[in-house]
This record gives sequence, C-alpha cells and structure tokens, in this order.
Amino acid sequence: GIPQAPPPAVAMRKSTRTLDVGGVLVGGGAPVSVQSMTTTVTADINATLQQIAELTAAGCQIVRVAVPSQDDAAALPIIAKKSKIPVIADIHFQPKYVFAAIDAGCAAVRVNPGNIKKFDDKIAEIAKAASAAGTPIRIGVNAGSLDPRLLTKYGKPTAEALVESALWECSLFEEHDFRDLKISVKHHDPVVMIRAYRLLSEQCDYPLHLGVTEAGPAFQGTVKSAVAFGALLSEGIGDTIRVSLSAPPVEEVKVGTAILESLGLRERGLEIVSCPSCGRAQVDVYKLAEEVTAGLEGLPVPLRVAVMGCVVNGPGEAREADLGVASGNGKGQIFVKGEVIKTVPESQIVETLITEALRIADEMGAE
Ligand code: SF4
Repeated sequence: GIPQAPPPAVAMRKSTRTLDVGGVLVGGGAPVSVQSMTTTVTADINATLQQIAELTAAGCQIVRVAVPSQDDAAALPIIAKKSKIPVIADIHFQPKYVFAAIDAGCAAVRVNPGNIKKFDDKIAEIAKAASAAGTPIRIGVNAGSLDPRLLTKYGKPTAEALVESALWECSLFEEHDFRDLKISVKHHDPVVMIRAYRLLSEQCDYPLHLGVTEAGPAFQGTVKSAVAFGALLSEGIGDTIRVSLSAPPVEEVKVGTAILESLGLRERGLEIVSCPSCGRAQVDVYKLAEEVTAGLEGLPVPLRVAVMGCVVNGPGEAREADLGVASGNGKGQIFVKGEVIKTVPESQIVETLITEALRIADEMGAE
C-alpha cells in the first residue's frame, strides 16, 4: 500500500475534560468529532432513522434530534436504540422531555439556558437523573435565544453575554456536583462567535462544541464555518463541531469533515489537488477536475490526485501526489507515485485516472 505520513498537527489542543457521548469521546484530546442534526420530524421514526443512516454513511459521528413534542419524546427510545451513532436529544422549554430523553437512553441531552426558565428549578433533579444514567449535558447558548436577563444587561448578544449565560448555567449544575457538561455559544457572526469561544476557553475546561448558528445557505455557511472553526481549531479550541447550513444535513457532515481534513485534524480521504487553470492551460481543467472528483467520490482510501492544466506546475504537483495528470498538447502524462506510467490522449485522461485510482485503492486494501 501507499504509506501515509501522519497529518501535521495544526496546534496543541487545549486540554479539556473528557466526556463519553454514547461511546464517542469528546474533549481531553480525543479526535474532534463531526455532528449534524436531523431535519425530519423526530416522531416519524422511520424517516428519522433513514436520515441518521445517511448521515452515518457520510461520516457523521454524533447526531442530534429535535424534541418539541410528546410524540417526539416517545420516539426517542427506538431511535436511540437503532441508530448506529450516538443520539443527542435537543430540548427547549420543556424539562419533562429531558427526563424522557435520559430514560430513553439518549447519549446526551442539549438544553438551552435562554429557553429554560422553568429549568432552573429543576436543575437538581436533572443533575441527579443525568448523573445516575451517565448522560452528559450540553449547555447550548444561542444568540437568537439569549437569556432575557443577560440581554437586558448587555443590550445585545455579545460574546461576553453568551459566555456569562453558559457559565452561569454550568454553575447551577456544579452546585449539584454535576460536571459532565459541554458548552456551545453560537452566534451567526463568526467574529463574535470566535471571541465568545476564546473567552469561554480561558474560563473553563469543559469540552466545547463549535458552531456558527444560522450560518446561511450552503456557500455562505460553508465559508463562515470554515473561517470560524479554522481560527479556533488552529488555536487548539474546539472538541466537536457542527456546521449549520440551510441545506440537507449530509452537506453539513461533508463540510465539517473537509474542514477537519484541511486542518490536519482528520486523516485526509480523497483529496483532489487541481490547479485553478489560467491562460496557459491546455485542457479544460474544471471539467477534468469535476469528472475525476465525481468518478472517485466515496473511495474509502486516503488518496491525493493531482489534476494540472499544463507543464508549469503540473509535473511537480503530479509527482507529489499518489496519482496525477499533467496535461499538454492534447495529451496527459499520468503519474503514479512520481513516475510517469503512461501518456494518454486527452479523451482518456479521466478513465485512466479512475482506473489507476481504483487499482491503487485495491492495493491499499479497500473493499
Ligand atoms: Fe495555469 Fe498550468 Fe498553473 Fe494550471 S498548472 S494554473 S494551467 S500554469
């Protein structure tokens, strides 16, 4: 097989407490995990499990489901049991569903201090039940639903306000000796969000769940999340991530995974190194890169494939990759591990790269 150098570490991870979220460790130096959230009605058990299966296949490691009604709460035991990845129940307003989620065997429960006025009186009971069941709790503060008391104090959901809300809620749990907590302080503005997580990271050692909330449609949300997570993770801040997109949740998982791969926090899967093309290009690089990407999608091995438009950087990049093409004069030089193995006409570049990639993957022991 092809030896893979370990990815360069982006930064020393900040040391946080470790949580066991249904078998996935979060914090304490455990690999940063990728989360998403289902968009189905949770009470529709089949649809929800189907979507969880799709998310799992895409690489999602922890999934969250919304629990706004009794019917949703009633669906939790089956969903938690049948899902192949840990299920977190997302609860606002109704403390009784927290107990239902714990009883259902959910891997964790997310609560929002801004929406849990009635919760504060119930913290002792929640801490007791969660402690007995070994269920961690995420304190999920959101700029859009900040505790009114803090909104009055700060005037708007500033980074300081988000952090104060989260730490206040944590202190209520700490009073009952409950510390299996993780925290998120989400804001739609990456600048505020980054500041909030930095402050939080200085003030506590709970594992942190990163998220830019209401990040927007796929393009904008991807950019915002990549920028914000990139800044924080490169400082060692963040133990688990969720990319929020106004797009199907599988897209969130793909983006989240790609962010971790880009930062060397996750072994790279298939990586296409393609040039932006320029006036020197002698082939249609966009089309070539798209066709190669489509042809190799889902290949379960770390493979770097270079698709280069001309001979300026082409041979150099192609040589550095596991597999590559440097194009010119209507032909493509195909490189495998730095050696030109053949030269093919332009029309055969894509099929040759795909055949070679599959052969290499086979050698690497892919199924
Ligand atoms: Fe331009 Fe060639 Fe560089 Fe591609 S590899 S950007 S075509 S110079």
